Amino acid sequence: MYKTEPIFLQPVLQERIWGGEKLHTEFHYEIPSAHTGEAWVISAHPNGPSIIKNGPLAGKTLADAWKEQGELFNKASSNEEEYPLLVKILDAADDLSVQVHPNDQFAREVEGVPYGKTECWYVVSAEEGAELVLGHHAKTQEELAQMAEQGEWDQLLRRIKVKAGDFVYVPSGTIHAIGKGIVILETQQSSDITYRVYDYDRTDAEGNKRELHLERSIQVTTVPHQDAIVEQTETVIGDLVEKKLVEEQYFTVYHWNLNGKASLDMTKDFLQVSVIDGRATLTIGDNSFEIEKGTHFILPYGIGGYSLYGKAEFIVSHV
Ligand code: ZN
Repeated sequence: MYKTEPIFLQPVLQERIWGGEKLHTEFHYEIPSAHTGEAWVISAHPNGPSIIKNGPLAGKTLADAWKEQGELFNKASSNEEEYPLLVKILDAADDLSVQVHPNDQFAREVEGVPYGKTECWYVVSAEEGAELVLGHHAKTQEELAQMAEQGEWDQLLRRIKVKAGDFVYVPSGTIHAIGKGIVILETQQSSDITYRVYDYDRTDAEGNKRELHLERSIQVTTVPHQDAIVEQTETVIGDLVEKKLVEEQYFTVYHWNLNGKASLDMTKDFLQVSVIDGRATLTIGDNSFEIEKGTHFILPYGIGGYSLYGKAEFIVSHV
């Protein structure tokens, strides 16, 4: 099963009030409306599970495959844990609310779900001057609570400018927000627990503000903010340059830049691959597959050698 083919996945498109149309105009996905914010492209999460497009499991979800065909992921049958990772592409046509996610322990004890949420972003595109929120300036928990209650957001929130190709690592407990005009590919723990800190006092058509979760936000926020130190290394494999963006407890993420041909070896339990630009041919054994910007797949366990030919960029990750 899947010895000479990858597991191709169908993205799940999600409407969001801050979303736009770039998931259609840039990635050619069918979008449900002009406010489409997220494509869940490699997902076994119950809120948006990917459907397998090819092979013996076509039509099943990635969650089914994880549960029933653990050998594809080198998973021991006794391992009852949920699929650990989730990959999304986000189109922020407007600012996202300022938020923070809990760690595993808090998620388990307080929310009764298996995973907290550490995430990271590769900036696919960004308009001139686009900004993110990453961290805060409070020195103590009390100061954080006080500034939040008094609405001193400009003084509290730490803003950074970003451009295409930037990488941002967001461990659980980091206050963050994706700003208007940014498209990112996000690799994260498979979790959907979000505490909203601030929503720019925006109201919906009925004049209602979105719910905030200040108390829990303050409980889970790392104080003072610490900038994560991320060491990036580069490896050249044939005509492919592999840049390791982050290697940490939950995931390792790479950027691959292919300009020609590369022969690779699959040595991980499974590999998540997203094509973010260009097109290429993937060859495994006697089988070849055309892949292009917007294609997402998993290389299953034991696939051995494979090759890539073309001009393309990828974001690749594994546990
Ligand atoms: Zn987040």
